Amino acid sequence: MAKAKPHAVCVPFPAQGHINAMLNLAEALHFMGFHITFVNTDFNHRRILRSRGPASLAGLSDFRFASIPDGLSPSDDDTDKNQDLVALCLSIKRHSAAPLRDLINALDDPSSGGPRVTCVISDAFTSFTLAVTDELAIPNIFFCSVSACGFWGFFYFKELMQRGIIPLKSEEDFTNGFLEAVIDWIPGMPNMRLKDLPKPLQTTNPNDALLNHTKDEAQASLHASAVLFNTFHDLDGPVLNAMSSVLPPVYDIGPVSLLCQHIPDPNFLTSADGGANLWSEDASCIEWLDEKEPGSVLYVNFGSLAVLTSEQLNEFAWGMASSGYHFLWVLRPDIMVGDRAVLPPGFEDETNNRSFVTSWCPQEKVLCHAAVGGFLTHCGWNSTLESIGAGVPMICWPFFGDQQPNCKYICSEWGIGMEIGEEVKREEVEMLIKELMGGQKGKEMRRKVLEWKERAVKAATPGGSSWRNLEKAVEDITMK
Ligand code: UDP
Repeated sequence: MAKAKPHAVCVPFPAQGHINAMLNLAEALHFMGFHITFVNTDFNHRRILRSRGPASLAGLSDFRFASIPDGLSPSDDDTDKNQDLVALCLSIKRHSAAPLRDLINALDDPSSGGPRVTCVISDAFTSFTLAVTDELAIPNIFFCSVSACGFWGFFYFKELMQRGIIPLKSEEDFTNGFLEAVIDWIPGMPNMRLKDLPKPLQTTNPNDALLNHTKDEAQASLHASAVLFNTFHDLDGPVLNAMSSVLPPVYDIGPVSLLCQHIPDPNFLTSADGGANLWSEDASCIEWLDEKEPGSVLYVNFGSLAVLTSEQLNEFAWGMASSGYHFLWVLRPDIMVGDRAVLPPGFEDETNNRSFVTSWCPQEKVLCHAAVGGFLTHCGWNSTLESIGAGVPMICWPFFGDQQPNCKYICSEWGIGMEIGEEVKREEVEMLIKELMGGQKGKEMRRKVLEWKERAVKAATPGGSSWRNLEKAVEDITMK
């Protein structure tokens, strides 16, 4: 009798970037012989169906989609709106384990038609899965879809708290230089100022929900069977080496979006094709880009979660307008704090012939388009890797989570970006765009990012370090 396929149940954290990265990993595992069950929350499952149509989640006989409740009350009215992130984190922790266990039990029933579940691949920030895998005595492999430096910062929240460094003592610590202090004792990450570590530490409240939740989630990785990182050794060697001596077996297997380029496309899967978009995508921006000169367009996108105040939106808008460059600007319908995004009066007239503003785009295709010469980004980890994979230098405006450490690494360690101050000023935006798109520094960053691109592509090609690590991880997982 033929040996049954290994069966991985993949559980992403229920946010766009995490879903995309997990989908890429699931595709790679499917290619390497796994039967896959990909588990979204009911809320996101419905959103993907609405934005992409039923075919998007139809699956294959050995790659299926399922969904479980997130524990929040249903709010279907506005499909474009994100759920409250903190409430979501706390809710899945409390409510999603039992439905996941029921799902796995149902999958294990012979009537399901698939092989028995052999492991769970869990996002590093959905540690509720551990209770289920402990009970069922199957391996739980964490997949860290935030950056290695970001994760390592979250992991050290515990010690920063024990040393009395965080939470901050008073509101004055935000302005008196306290956040500039260098934290030189985190292994593998010696040059970080407090403000370069993940944003949730910037609070004075010892009971802050996000601070405590992210600390606990990162520590929970100690109980995983292994931890996969969406990065590659050349990029993050020192942090990966430091993590290897503390965490369960660590494998750097990224960028997962590049791994997937070596997999024959089963159509519905590739996230580069909008596989799991929560928003409907406007592909017409590609035609607009087709008419532009190589390297002439600035691409502006702050990801799926960041929100702007109207002042920040205005400063970005007028900075872009005065730069004189063409730009493609993605403004999610829910990007404005408390309201729908409205461009400042006069802006559209002023920039009409050189701007394209839309609400969601096929980002990987945009970044790989020859017309795109620079990326103004919030430094989400997927966006960062996609920019490196496309060889596009960045202007960084980190918003929250791991984006502060990502920005620090992009600008200081890898030399492929420049930071915009937290308080956005139009003059600074204009100056940095001009420098990025046409200045000497921009030229130097472009040269460097193309070198990183080459290394990323090499790592993620069959025979490269990330590809081999994934093969090794698969071997180790299936032996357990
Ligand atoms: N993305 C996209 N189109 C958009 C905006 C974002 O396809 O208009 C994708 C992007 O390619 C990336 C993900 O959404 O894969 C965003 O993840 P990231 O980690 O960069 O940021 P987050 O949304 O988690 O803040």
